[in-house]
Amino acid sequence: MDLDDLYQEIILEHYKEPKNQGRVDAANVEVEGRNPFCGDEIKLTMLVKNGLIQDVKFTGSGCAISQSSASVMTEHIKGKTVAEVKELFQEFGHLVRGESHSHKHINNMDELTAFQGVSAYPTRVKCAMLAWNALREGIERELEKEGE
Ligand code: ZN
Repeated sequence: MDLDDLYQEIILEHYKEPKNQGRVDAANVEVEGRNPFCGDEIKLTMLVKNGLIQDVKFTGSGCAISQSSASVMTEHIKGKTVAEVKELFQEFGHLVRGESHSHKHINNMDELTAFQGVSAYPTRVKCAMLAWNALREGIERELEKEGE
């Protein structure tokens, strides 16, 4: 099995059995994302408290890359600080766009690296980033609220 097969397997596994499906009951952040190019949809709910992502869940429909990316993302951000998640957003963006950058939060063994193959397909980068863009929007909205 070569690396591409391994990556595909990770993506398909998360697509078939996504983690953190549903809705966070006590959510204070709720955000939707759409990728019209592919027809992907994501609805993200989070409980952000004391600067921490305490809980996160999602529902959605669309292609394997968009849904599995959301699943892997929720696993990686739960329990992390908002500051860490913002850095992770940047690093994942570099990864899927094929930009070389030093990564503080993503290591070679991470399932997040399964998505680096999409950098060869610019239209699929939008699929891989859908959940992450929704995440960033939700976090920024929450930070604005706290600043009021
Ligand atoms: Zn898609």
